[in-house]
Amino acid sequence: MLALAVFVLSVSATVIAAPSEKVKSLRFWTAPDHTRLVLGLTSPVEHKVFSLDNPPRLVLDLNNIKFEATLPTFSTGHKVVNLMRQAPRNNKDLRVVIDLKTAVNAKSFILKPNANYGHRLVIDLYPKKNKSGKKPTVVKKSANAAKGNKWVVAIDAGHGGEDPGAKGYRGTREKVVVLAIAKKLAALVNKQPNMKAYLVRSGDYYIGLRKRMEKARKAKADLFVSIHADAFKDQRARGSSVYVLSNRGASSEAARWLANSENAADLVGGVSLDDKDDMLASVLLDLSQNHTEDASAKVASEVLKNLKGVGHVHKKQVQRAGFMVLKSPDIPSILVETAFISNKNEEAKLRSSRHQLKMANAIMKGVKAYFAHQRLPSAPTVRVAKATYKIKSGDTLSAIALRHHVSLALLKKANAMRSSKIKVGQIIQIPS
Ligand SMILES: [Zn+2]
Repeated sequence: MLALAVFVLSVSATVIAAPSEKVKSLRFWTAPDHTRLVLGLTSPVEHKVFSLDNPPRLVLDLNNIKFEATLPTFSTGHKVVNLMRQAPRNNKDLRVVIDLKTAVNAKSFILKPNANYGHRLVIDLYPKKNKSGKKPTVVKKSANAAKGNKWVVAIDAGHGGEDPGAKGYRGTREKVVVLAIAKKLAALVNKQPNMKAYLVRSGDYYIGLRKRMEKARKAKADLFVSIHADAFKDQRARGSSVYVLSNRGASSEAARWLANSENAADLVGGVSLDDKDDMLASVLLDLSQNHTEDASAKVASEVLKNLKGVGHVHKKQVQRAGFMVLKSPDIPSILVETAFISNKNEEAKLRSSRHQLKMANAIMKGVKAYFAHQRLPSAPTVRVAKATYKIKSGDTLSAIALRHHVSLALLKKANAMRSSKIKVGQIIQIPS
């Protein structure tokens, strides 16, 4: 088989014309936990990724394609990549070699074209963890230490990296201005004696929508604020809006459209391959405590009230839509569309550092007003369970409670159950 393959290859090499498919662009995004390489292609391509040791390298073989991009350069301080190089192979194929600073686990996948980009090949490089296991320990510790007796506000700047978000008339990118506002808001939050900010995204890289919720939970967030800038075909549309999650349907057609386009970020930015527990997520969502809904509505209306002081609001009421990123069942969550980046006037404002601070201030005031009516829990509250349990035939809720050393009352509370009725296949949370 191998001999035949080699034979075919050597014969065909002399007759095959140069490939017409091209690698048109090559860019990279550096996130705290991984580096993402994105190859812009003229069509999807067969490829193979493998690694070599001593020194660590990653080799990317692409079939029947030529290289017409510019190789990116990496700063000397880059944690993962030293250098990239490329060369044609077999007259028709392409080999890209990535010289690494550390061994990596690589994940690769193809992304389909969308409004912003054509076909893409994405390669995510995750540095292999040291055997000393230093990193994870540090992360855990700092998350716990951060909590103290302060309210933790998770601030999520929308989009990032491969996903630019909406674009303004002058080319302003949503991902850039919302990060600027998020950072200003974080600084304001950290000035509060009883609050602590957690920036979900701190640089120009993409994080999957579900991963954002996960990160907020790991940081023990008491509130999740996602920051975006709106866009609409009609350039006259203007003003800020504040959204909370709707399970039953969006409050308007425009809200549905917006939710769809925000949720589509995962198609633009590239889904994380670990985002697979849809089923569990939707079950958890069904259990979503009324408390979280009420709290989200409260903080949303406080923020909206304060945004009205800064300028025009697009909708006078808090809006509801099915934004993925708001689906944490246990963390009150809001999404602020700060302004319309598609409106020339507002685009200019979004670019202004002074106006960004005004926006951040208005959100801060709303958050402060909300927390003024909350009391800091002295003991840990019932949060989403660390464990879940799938109901089997013959189970009773009281037996499950007994087995997991929790009271029946606590178990019901954790699952927002009024009765002890359970169904086979139902997934319940086991409070710790
Ligand atoms: Zn957005």
